[in-house]
Amino acid sequence: MVKQIEEPSRITPVMAETDVLVVGGGPAGLSASIAAAREGVDTMLVERYGCFGGNITQSLVGTIAWYRRAKTVGPGGMGLEFEHKAKEMGGSITRYNKDITTTEMGNYLERKGLLVEGEPTGEILNTEMFKFIADTMVKEANIKPLLHCTVVDVIKEGKKLIGVITESKSGRQAIMAKRTIDATGDADLIHHAGAPYRKDPRSELQRVTLNFSCNGIDTKKLFPYYLKKVREKPGVFAFLRQARELFFIDELACLLEPIDDINKGIEIPEEIKIESFWKNYAEAGEIYSFNGIHMEGRDCTDVWDLTQAEIEGRKRIIKAIKGLKRHTPGFENARLKHIGSSLGTRESRKIIGEYNLTEHDVKNQARFEDSIGICPEFIDGFGQVILPTTGRYFQVPYGIILPKKVENLLVAGRCVAGDKISHAATRQMVCCAITGQGAGVAAAVSIKDKVTCREVDIQKVQKALRNQGVRIE
Ligand SMILES: Cc1cc2nc3c(=O)[nH]c(=O)nc-3n(C[C@H](O)[C@H](O)[C@H](O)COP(=O)(O)OP(=O)(O)OC[C@H]3O[C@@H](n4cnc5c(N)ncnc54)[C@H](O)[C@@H]3O)c2cc1C
Repeated sequence: MVKQIEEPSRITPVMAETDVLVVGGGPAGLSASIAAAREGVDTMLVERYGCFGGNITQSLVGTIAWYRRAKTVGPGGMGLEFEHKAKEMGGSITRYNKDITTTEMGNYLERKGLLVEGEPTGEILNTEMFKFIADTMVKEANIKPLLHCTVVDVIKEGKKLIGVITESKSGRQAIMAKRTIDATGDADLIHHAGAPYRKDPRSELQRVTLNFSCNGIDTKKLFPYYLKKVREKPGVFAFLRQARELFFIDELACLLEPIDDINKGIEIPEEIKIESFWKNYAEAGEIYSFNGIHMEGRDCTDVWDLTQAEIEGRKRIIKAIKGLKRHTPGFENARLKHIGSSLGTRESRKIIGEYNLTEHDVKNQARFEDSIGICPEFIDGFGQVILPTTGRYFQVPYGIILPKKVENLLVAGRCVAGDKISHAATRQMVCCAITGQGAGVAAAVSIKDKVTCREVDIQKVQKALRNQGVRIE
């Protein structure tokens, strides 16, 4: 039995009142707040850290749609807007199938006659710059921002959620809201509201990752080496193999052989397993994001697990760099530049929604009358990889953002309702942006029509989403 104390009751000041309150400023929360504000309701966005962007800015995840290719059918909407805004503000590198001449790698491939046909396929975000890009988008949408503020509880009147309790350097304060959107990634508000959710055991949760970046890399040595290695050994990841067959290797800078050496214990004790590939490289000998220090069996709603994984992750990063410097041509003078300010997390609580998306839905182009957007058939997780190269897509139903047993609270992002394999699709940032934009618009429409989120007229929501540039059908 856990030792407990009883806290004295207290009077809590109300710091703000708003129409729509969005909690969590990741891809889902940003999309939700911008979408709501564009529908003309007062909107506030609260974030526990010092910048918006969620995994993008905190964990160096700069690839909103790295899988996009010529035939991929995308949803438009906010995910695409993030990419366009980043490009417009000089905060991204454009990635092409053919003519990837913005990078030294592109030049190299071109000289070798190795480029494939195709159009520009997407933007690789400068994740530091995205902090400012997000600020700009929040300001342009006339959203009231609040940083360094964590939501720790909810205020309910019967089944209706009417506000939240926050903790910050200013103390414990309340925010009252007509509608609230839980975009915390971990469904924190659902948990506090006592609404139903599920969470798999630690051993089944997707791993957590501490990303890092390096500079001082000699790309003239690295790129030819990596090309040779990729040809010799396409890699241990199924998606790398598939990617190599389907597209070209472009950004999938696979460095598995030296990493295998490291894993054999040359530089790193055998229990520390490192596997991955470099991506997001820049001309000036800089690699933005090494997505390779993965840790299994961690529950990212357990503060002890989070602490242990951050400390363990940093230890592995230092050892990985030591190994790469010794074994990888081009890395001899590499320097650690940045470690994500927070561990990157992929999975924890999933709400029980009015509808729970299934593996069958995401693999069979499911169609729903209450669609709030479409998602390309991209599945990455739990040992399964499907890349959206054929134009197949599924519709995202409103039911998966609508929780049970609580009113006027919607959910957006990676904690929406669905089974294990559907999570491998809905956790993608493009889908998080769809559920965010859908939640923001639905919250605004429900306020204007004076109905609960459950009673909202879905056709009005769909019309507003179309006007915002979202593809529904
Ligand atoms: C290493 C890694 C690589 C990935 N690579 C890709 C990729 O290439 N492409 C892709 O599409 N997806 C990728 N993903 C998945 C994707 O990044 C996430 O699924 C996505 O960011 C989830 O968006 P979200 O807005 O739901 O949550 P998050 O991005 O986690 O944002 C949640 C936000 O809420 C804030 N918050 C949480 N609790 C509170 C609280 N109580 N009060 C106030 N604020 C709170 C957090 O600080 C955070 O800013 C990757 C994930 C990881 C970890």
